[in-house]
Amino acid sequence: MEYENIRKEFFSNISHELRTPINVILSAIQLIEVTNIPGKSQNKFVGKYLDTMKRNCYRLMRTFNNIIEVTKVDTDYYDINFQNIDIVDIVREVTEEVEEYIKDIEVKVIFNSKLKEKIIAADPEKIENIILNILSNAVKFTKSGGGGKIIVNVFEKEESIFISIEDTGIGIPEDKLDMIFEKFTQVNKSLTRNHEGSGMGLALVKSLVDKHNGRITVKSSLGVGSEFIIELPIRNISDEVAVEAINYNTYSNLYEKIKIEFSDIYGI
Ligand code: ADP
Repeated sequence: MEYENIRKEFFSNISHELRTPINVILSAIQLIEVTNIPGKSQNKFVGKYLDTMKRNCYRLMRTFNNIIEVTKVDTDYYDINFQNIDIVDIVREVTEEVEEYIKDIEVKVIFNSKLKEKIIAADPEKIENIILNILSNAVKFTKSGGGGKIIVNVFEKEESIFISIEDTGIGIPEDKLDMIFEKFTQVNKSLTRNHEGSGMGLALVKSLVDKHNGRITVKSSLGVGSEFIIELPIRNISDEVAVEAINYNTYSNLYEKIKIEFSDIYGI
């Protein structure tokens, strides 16, 4: 127990230690942005540099979050706050918000589901993380222009809910399909590649899906596209076990989360 307590304390300290300085830098940048009114004395490059600084703060935050989460998720004390939530609504909200966020690049994001509503036991914050992670990969690996398309579908089959995220991107070679859910795995590791990332996203996604007693699979064809399918069991939990939904203001920080999750992608 003592060991577990030390670990717990370590994680909360390290999260604080890593995140606080970036938040301070970000706040300072925001302050400069509002006080730095364009005028004669303003250096025309200041805005550009501030953008670069901001983007890189978000990238650091994404890496830290992923490192912390991926280290913590497989331990016993990782908190999953199950609530009875409308899974269709949450996936729709995340997809629509992403669609709006990436409207400047030529990749279409479409939510397409016949299912209107389905209440299942899940942790809404973790579901958001799962969908955002897969969607950001889909955008990252789909070329802007040329009719690039990402289709998100939610459907019910037997005792499960399926969430499918399909893209028309570069695809994944067949011999790499099993590896992409392992930590630090990237198909193209070369430093000259035109995508950033740390290879932790899908490892985290898989652990989070496992925590929901679900399953994630992928189908892909090189040069044609990829489809990630998440299967979640349909079950509800009793009110006594469910965490009060009021604790979680579902969509309030979604925009901020998207900014962090998409900070790796150039051109947005
Ligand atoms: P990263 O931070 O590098 O994106 P992930 O764990 O999220 O890490 O993904 C691991 C690797 O799987 C990626 O680097 C990429 O090679 C491959 N990958 C994931 N999603 C897709 C996709 N939709 N299309 C093509 N390749 C993908």
